[in-house]
Amino acid sequence: MTKNYLATPSRTKELLAKHKFTFKKSLGQNFLIDVNILRNIIQHAGIDKNAGVIEIGPGFGALTEQLAIHADKVVAFEIDQRLLPVLAETLAPYDNISIIHQDILEANVRATIEEQFVDQEHVHVVANLPYYITTPILMKLLSDKLPITNMTIMIQKEVADRMAAQPNSKSYGSLTIAIQYYTKAEVVMNVPKTVFTPQPNVESSVLKLTLRDQPPVDVLDEEFFFEVVRACFTHRRKTLRNNLQAHFKGKLAKEIITEAILQTRIDAGRRGESLTMEEFAQLANAFYTRIQ
Ligand code: SAM
Repeated sequence: MTKNYLATPSRTKELLAKHKFTFKKSLGQNFLIDVNILRNIIQHAGIDKNAGVIEIGPGFGALTEQLAIHADKVVAFEIDQRLLPVLAETLAPYDNISIIHQDILEANVRATIEEQFVDQEHVHVVANLPYYITTPILMKLLSDKLPITNMTIMIQKEVADRMAAQPNSKSYGSLTIAIQYYTKAEVVMNVPKTVFTPQPNVESSVLKLTLRDQPPVDVLDEEFFFEVVRACFTHRRKTLRNNLQAHFKGKLAKEIITEAILQTRIDAGRRGESLTMEEFAQLANAFYTRIQ
């Protein structure tokens, strides 16, 4: 028997009419209407009955419902007040879900995890993210260094490709390094527009970010490391020498900049897009000792 799950075109249509709900583009509201996609996401995330899950943006509760079925407990943050009565109705059959009416960017997610997931063995973030703030949400959750195993998220394909990119590709950039410093990033699925209502204007992918116990490189100062990485990508077609000289102009003499790059044995004529994370770390550390 196929159950009458929330993630179906018919239930979604019914809820839209009943609650006279109108989608807000400004909140990135594209709801999922395909239960198979949701199950795939949950499988990739490694959710089981010992898992606690943080969801961002439950919408009508399509993903939340599947998470409640497969996980031990779900806590979902939703910014749109209009969805609270809908969720109270759609998720009423499940007793392992808490909805928090809050902007995820304002939320103390660490405190929520510590309070709500006392008995669960592992904690995950799973979400069909609002695309307009994908990067701020992920950077917030990663820099908070939360006690979670992984994040499995539906995002814009182009952004997923940048986050999971390898050196020497068009998608590789400072966002790649920022994400891969904290996680192992993998695109696990490309998703057709037809599984959403309304259909988004952009292509979508599911990205799995597995958190690292330790960063993959040793840096003397994290903030400075990211500053150097960004500087190397300021003008993608320019060499390291040119980008770094422009960035440190007025702070470091030209000769010191040349000396710092020389110390790393990285060819100053290369472009940022060819550097590995390890090479960025060497570069940042060589500059850090000179800027003090
Ligand atoms: N999870 C639902 C689904 O897959 O059908 C809805 C996903 S929809 C792409 C994004 C959801 O995030 C919407 O419910 C939207 O209201 C919510 N949202 C947008 N910005 C938010 C924010 N800053 N904090 C929490 N939720 C937000």
